[in-house]
Amino acid sequence: MTKDSPDQIRRAARLTAARAEHERVAAEVAAHDVAYHQQDAPVISDADYDALRRKLDSLEKRFPELAEGSVSRRVGAAPAEKFAKVRHVVPMLSLGNIFQPDEAEEFVGRVRRFLGLAEDAPLAITAEPKIDGLSCSLRYVNGELVQAATRGDGFEGEDVTANVRTIKEIPQSLKGDAPEICEVRGEIYMTKSDFAALNERQATAGKPPFANPRNSAAGSLRQLDPTITAQRPLHFFAYAWGEMSAMPATTQHGMIEAFARFGFKTNPLTKLCHGTPELLAQWSAIEETRATLPYDIDGVVYKIDDLDYQRRLGFVSRAPRWATAHKFAAEKATTILRDIEIQVGRTGSLTPVAKLEPVTVGGVVVSNATLHNEDEIARKDVRIGDTVTVQRAGDVIPQVLGPVLDKRPKTAKPYEFPQVCPACGSAALREVDAKGEMDVVRRCTGGLVCPAQAVERLKHFCSRNALDIEGLGDRQIELFHAEGLIMQPADIFTLEERDKRATKKLKDREGFGETSVRNLFAAINARRNIVINRFLYGLGIRHVGETNARRLARHFGTFEALREVARAALEPDSEARAELNAIEGVGDVVAEAVADFFAEKHNEDALDALLREVTPEPMEAVLTTTPVAGKTIVFTGALEKMTRDEAKAMAERLGAKVSGSVSKKTDLVVAGPGAGSKLTKAAELGIEVITEDEWLARVG
Ligand code: AMP
Repeated sequence: MTKDSPDQIRRAARLTAARAEHERVAAEVAAHDVAYHQQDAPVISDADYDALRRKLDSLEKRFPELAEGSVSRRVGAAPAEKFAKVRHVVPMLSLGNIFQPDEAEEFVGRVRRFLGLAEDAPLAITAEPKIDGLSCSLRYVNGELVQAATRGDGFEGEDVTANVRTIKEIPQSLKGDAPEICEVRGEIYMTKSDFAALNERQATAGKPPFANPRNSAAGSLRQLDPTITAQRPLHFFAYAWGEMSAMPATTQHGMIEAFARFGFKTNPLTKLCHGTPELLAQWSAIEETRATLPYDIDGVVYKIDDLDYQRRLGFVSRAPRWATAHKFAAEKATTILRDIEIQVGRTGSLTPVAKLEPVTVGGVVVSNATLHNEDEIARKDVRIGDTVTVQRAGDVIPQVLGPVLDKRPKTAKPYEFPQVCPACGSAALREVDAKGEMDVVRRCTGGLVCPAQAVERLKHFCSRNALDIEGLGDRQIELFHAEGLIMQPADIFTLEERDKRATKKLKDREGFGETSVRNLFAAINARRNIVINRFLYGLGIRHVGETNARRLARHFGTFEALREVARAALEPDSEARAELNAIEGVGDVVAEAVADFFAEKHNEDALDALLREVTPEPMEAVLTTTPVAGKTIVFTGALEKMTRDEAKAMAERLGAKVSGSVSKKTDLVVAGPGAGSKLTKAAELGIEVITEDEWLARVG
């Protein structure tokens, strides 16, 4: 046996110590993970938690053997794109909507005509509540649950099998006479009271609340870590099906009864009706119980009962002809408007938010609602102290409909919308467009000096499609801004130099460590040269999104050339303005916004400082002799070999235009799996459709 060298012995000793430390920190991280993700009640600050994670990382970097099975390998609650995709054998479709009783009559009439049924021929229709949750398809093979998938785009959903296995109301094995292949579909939902309790925990944890029970059910289900789903009280009603190797019934209500036999919960308010009056009576009966039901519903679904009729009726685009959703009116309640808060967005927009005396609207407690904008407040004459009507409809943010005038306190005064920005005190103005119409939005003119805008602009500057600085996320920017370390974009690039001279160094701060600070500086330095269109987009000039940034960059080539023209373009009649105006896709509004930006003294100062640190580089040349040059292309469905952003960039490099929607102007549609309405439209218009592989072959 060879003897270990002194080095090996020393390493072994260090490893033993590191292992002990790793175990201690890993246990701590695991406990905080439970508190944060499962109980939504973190006990330490995010910065402290990050510090623990970094300690783990650095131990694992030094001793890679510690990484095996470590909590550092767990993914936490990362975004949903990470789920595997599931292709639905039978698509999961949507439903048509009706709102008025006579539309129910029309629905039944249409079905009768389609089937050639006489007016007095029997036609059974089920009426079932439309549960406001998210639909899920559960695949059982030989009675065992093998896969669960969300609806996704109807053709392809996400694989949520592990998460669904934690829902008690969903059987792992079926009872009774279930067919060999049995795909049961229905709604996963959260009760209103569980939703309220979850939101309270979110608030305590400083996390944003879910907007409604449907969102909270979706958020809870689509967790990468199924143990979190397990902590969330989710329920399930079965009402539909996908692939079935044999049908257990010949009617809709028979299918629902079969699901109950297999071990599913089915909705007790489902009723078999005969004729429109009975349907409408059941609609009213369900609506009456709506506020007292433990879960959210937003209408009643009518379905033709006979499955043979369903088959004959088939589908129109993405909804069955044999069913429709008769929606309820939005739910309303009255409460007191305690205050109007003005929020300032990145572009300086002032948005009024109603702060309400908390009120239950259809079983959900609402304390904030939108007041839309200044004109709406004036038009409705909403005053602080007023009793107001609040409406909540499905997914949308609750809104204030208007005041209840006979309850108005004598002291209530008309609301005066602030003329100055609440964050920086700069004047807040409403733009007037070329036609002389006033913008509904009032904006702060503080630009780079307004703290509310500055933070949002800095976030934008560092964001993925702009400078894309890794390690400088929203939270870090907020922190650095609050501490006065980064007040404008240029400060990002001087941070390292300043840190060298600082007495309190970044690496010694809570939540930072030597490695993370080194990585941050490296990420910042990697962006000292940046392609001009990203740089331009990052400046956050009004109306200059990614597309316009590319147009301007392509036209001018260099930032200096653009700047020179923009500076001379303030006068509407100037030659410079005309040049901006003439760029394809850039109209007067954009040209004016660009000119205004460069005319602003503090923007110019901030730019000068920034350009001392950063060099905008020319865009890659656009090829004009490629097979797709000058063509308008639409990408749809999932791409497998590249991301959407990559595909778009590639097409544009090759001189093509990329559009988000199919129209007569489209030359080519590149469709991946799951493509839906765009594909249908392309077929209707006779536009060429190719696969991703064909696209790659074509462009070489
Ligand atoms: P929509 O999302 O408006 O297209 O409506 C279709 C959705 O309604 C389905 O995907 C289901 O999630 C949901 N839904 C809720 N209850 C029912 C029900 N009883 N029958 C059919 N769909 C329902």
